[in-house]
Amino acid sequence: MNFPYKLIDLTHTIDEHISTWNASCGFAQHITLDYQECDNSVKFRVMSFSMNAGIGTHIDAPSHCIQGAPAIHDLLIQNLCMPCIVINVSEQAHENYLVTQHDIIAFENKHGTIPQDSCVMIRSGWERFWSEPEKYHNNLVFPSLSVDAINILLQRKVYALGIDTLSPDLPKNGFKIHQLWLEKNKILIENAAHLYELPPVGSFVMICPLKIKNATESPIRLIALIPSSRK
Ligand SMILES: [Zn+2]
Repeated sequence: MNFPYKLIDLTHTIDEHISTWNASCGFAQHITLDYQECDNSVKFRVMSFSMNAGIGTHIDAPSHCIQGAPAIHDLLIQNLCMPCIVINVSEQAHENYLVTQHDIIAFENKHGTIPQDSCVMIRSGWERFWSEPEKYHNNLVFPSLSVDAINILLQRKVYALGIDTLSPDLPKNGFKIHQLWLEKNKILIENAAHLYELPPVGSFVMICPLKIKNATESPIRLIALIPSSRK
């Protein structure tokens, strides 16, 4: 196939054991009709599932915190596909690590100014605990962002902010990052996976939520594209 991009799946698989914000997964899958119960000559397995909207690799729409702001179904696909910047703090990030403006400036000194309308992914390395849901949850202590880091990203007019933890905010910090970001009609991505497969600059990301009316959050299939011409 002559597709000019290498595709990277940045999505965690959802099952009933994964870590979520309230530590109860909230995901269940049911078989409503199974092959052997099916009267047709072609046999079907029909399923339903239930879950929290903010499960697994997911998006927060502006309306997640801001009443009347855009919801999931309002987001245009043109705004869900963009250049992707990966800021790697995994070398220094411990469980209480706060990404600061110094991390952002250090990145820019090496790789250039973060472009407007891009997606910035924070690679903290916390993903290494994904297969241990309690450790990943860690009583809601994990690497997150400081307000001064968010202020620089706001100045750069970044549109999407993602991280490989449950949230860019800790409850003890009062969810300031959600407020400051979503009130500007921007979007957040939580529980991003496999960020270590991406270069710091030069890739693109496609954010694909379920198009559910008035949803404030949705699981996403998160796909990165790296141009094949890139060496
Ligand atoms: Zn969130």
